[in-house]
Amino acid sequence: MASSRILPEFELLIPQSIKEAVDLLGKLKSKASVMAGGTDVVVSMTKGFGSPNVISLAEIPGLDYVEYDSKNGLRIGAMATLQQVADNADVKKRYPALWKACAINGTPQTRNMGTVVGNIMRASPSGDCICAVLAIGGKVVLRTSKGKREVSIDDFYLKYKVTECKAEELAIEIKLPPQPSGSCNAFARMTRTTLDLSKLNVAVRLDMSGKTCKEARVAMGAVAPTTIRLKKVEALLEGSQITEDVLQKIVETVPTEIKPIDDVRSTAEYRRDVAGVMVKRVIAEALAK
Ligand SMILES: Cc1cc2nc3c(=O)[nH]c(=O)nc-3n(C[C@H](O)[C@H](O)[C@H](O)COP(=O)(O)OP(=O)(O)OC[C@H]3O[C@@H](n4cnc5c(N)ncnc54)[C@H](O)[C@@H]3O)c2cc1C
Repeated sequence: MASSRILPEFELLIPQSIKEAVDLLGKLKSKASVMAGGTDVVVSMTKGFGSPNVISLAEIPGLDYVEYDSKNGLRIGAMATLQQVADNADVKKRYPALWKACAINGTPQTRNMGTVVGNIMRASPSGDCICAVLAIGGKVVLRTSKGKREVSIDDFYLKYKVTECKAEELAIEIKLPPQPSGSCNAFARMTRTTLDLSKLNVAVRLDMSGKTCKEARVAMGAVAPTTIRLKKVEALLEGSQITEDVLQKIVETVPTEIKPIDDVRSTAEYRRDVAGVMVKRVIAEALAK
């Protein structure tokens, strides 16, 4: 096991363009790690999980955009930091779940270094941006030297820390669809301390027509090997008016959809006990917006 302070030796590669980066990845494949903000890559390296080569995206121009338009929705480039996204007025107004996941993420230092795309690619079951994006819906845009493809966030997470992204692929952006009128979304998390990773996180998107929910997406993290959608809860919401009775059924249903474990942040029992109430509260928060 490597020291928790000393980095192992590695080759730092600093491509100046996306083309150069994907050519390097195509050549090195799993012998290289991509580094965006490095808030996770560097920590992993100190724990002995590093690659012999690190491809930094820091000097590739034009990857730090956060762009919104009503036709195409939101696009977040691979080097846009959590803080940039938290500072964006369109994100705050239209995608409050993602806004909050970024605004509460880590510390001012990690928000200014860490990226939203890095959070998505890190594939942690407790990742806050993952939870928000899974509820809102979206696509990850992946590039190789041969071309690009888009993968729905619904199909992106395969198992614990394993994604659809192949070793030779670089994520260049994530895209979130424009939200239909009547749609609302919200996110909340529980942590041991303010700066801790989530012991539970929840995000919801509700497409409302008057008082009736037409479509629902409900995501929960830290309760399974990947962040998951709660399909039974979504079915209870869809086509219904969200009454106290429906919310009570949801509180009872959530524990049947999750498989939490005991770990340093919480026990499985606690997670199962509070998960339903948390989903209920996040639904109420979304509807209040
Ligand atoms: C003190 C501290 C507090 C934290 N708090 C939180 C928190 O509150 N909530 C939370 O969810 N996370 C938290 N994290 C985890 C992490 O910092 C965030 O997930 C952050 O958003 C990761 O972004 P990054 O740009 O630093 O990723 P990096 O460390 O650069 O990369 C993360 C992973 O994604 C891969 N990757 C990054 N970009 C790409 C790309 N473009 N294409 C392909 N692969 C890529 C890397 O190879 C690596 O596997 C915290 C970390 C620290 C150290």
